Amino acid sequence: MRFTIFLLCLSAWAADVMPPEPEQRLARVIYQEMIEVKSGFTTGSTTPIAESVAARFKAAGFPVEDIFVGGAIPTKANVVVRYRGTGARKPLLLLAHTDVVEAKREDWTVDPFVFLEKDGYFYGRGTSDDKAQAAVWVATLLRLKRENYRPDRDLILALTADEEGGGPYNGVNWLIEKHRALIDAEYALNEGARGMMVGGKRVEHQIGLAEKQFLNLRWEVRNKGGHSARPVPDNAIYHLAAALQRLSGFEFDFALNEVTREYFRQSAKMEASGLAADMARVAEGDRAAMRRVAAASAPLNAMLRTTCVATQLEGGHATNALPQLAAANVNCRLLPDDSVESVVAQLTKLVGDDQVKISVTTNEGASPVSPLRDDIMKAFTRITDTMWPGVITVPSMAVGGTDGRYLRSAGIPTYGVQGFFLDRDDVRAHGRDERMPVKSFYEGQTFLYEFVKALSK
Ligand SMILES: [Zn+2]
Repeated sequence: MRFTIFLLCLSAWAADVMPPEPEQRLARVIYQEMIEVKSGFTTGSTTPIAESVAARFKAAGFPVEDIFVGGAIPTKANVVVRYRGTGARKPLLLLAHTDVVEAKREDWTVDPFVFLEKDGYFYGRGTSDDKAQAAVWVATLLRLKRENYRPDRDLILALTADEEGGGPYNGVNWLIEKHRALIDAEYALNEGARGMMVGGKRVEHQIGLAEKQFLNLRWEVRNKGGHSARPVPDNAIYHLAAALQRLSGFEFDFALNEVTREYFRQSAKMEASGLAADMARVAEGDRAAMRRVAAASAPLNAMLRTTCVATQLEGGHATNALPQLAAANVNCRLLPDDSVESVVAQLTKLVGDDQVKISVTTNEGASPVSPLRDDIMKAFTRITDTMWPGVITVPSMAVGGTDGRYLRSAGIPTYGVQGFFLDRDDVRAHGRDERMPVKSFYEGQTFLYEFVKALSK
């Protein structure tokens, strides 16, 4: 009896939070299912998600030959589904990753792997990065199928493993290398940009056209060492420390590209701080304005130049010995048209000490800027204007990385498009108590549905 009452309460509660629209209910159910799969990139598996998504498409009548499940290892499955169109144009690829950054229950105020709707937010690891988009892509294709929509190009859905952490099982990289034909497309839509709210107000809607290149350098000094009771001036730690001291005062030259120029031009219109006038001048190439903007804002500085920063140190082997080794990791984020050779050459010259050996330990490869295509920009702006009057469209360059880099360097231009609006001061991806505003989720669902249709008819 008590059990029955409990069930009744539960169903009343569920009816309460469930949105009225059947399409929204479906997206929410898929979203919940994905959030509750522990797909942390070091300890979890993406395979249950891939299998469940494949089963949904099979049940919806997609031919089995258009559904693919596979990955680098059994626990890192990707799912690729092809929605057949007329074939008049090359396919459009819809991408999202299903792995998440690890989350520990004790760090969170709620369980990171229990989907929770509370106070206007969905909570759970992956609610913003990147399971909202994954769930919406699935719901969108299922809806288009029910509506008997016939696109003028195939729509390819790829939900992939291991975007986070850059491990060896990255699904996009694996698909490009092993099954290129499955995902080959004219261009792709992916994470990497979002809508921005300030104080709850929707302000700008970003479309991502570029991202910076991730590079790790090891700065290493080796020395014969000796007894610390008889020190000599030639000390590995001192060499390294002096080199890092030079790095701390160094800045790469400013450089704008087509995307960042447009970013500054557009976002100057909405910038409420005292930076608006300078941001407009940055777009015109005013270097004094660039200096002021870069000094005032770390994120804007990162848009304007390549950056390198010391992130880890090691050195010495005993408290009473002269160090035989001192080393640092220097993490760099290169502008899309910068090169590793140029960065290493500039740093070598800066350090000016041939005992400090600079070597590349991680190079994620160049990621060319995706072209500002008229058809994409027009559709994006039109739907944005209709759904959120007064919100401006802003082309953007991500200063962090996404799977878009694999596609861009494989010749598939990639656009960061989500339609989810998050508050500028409340971005919790990779952090604790990650969440997504409920309203933003459903709006993003509508946006992406309209956007996919606009690009395929
Ligand atoms: Zn992500």
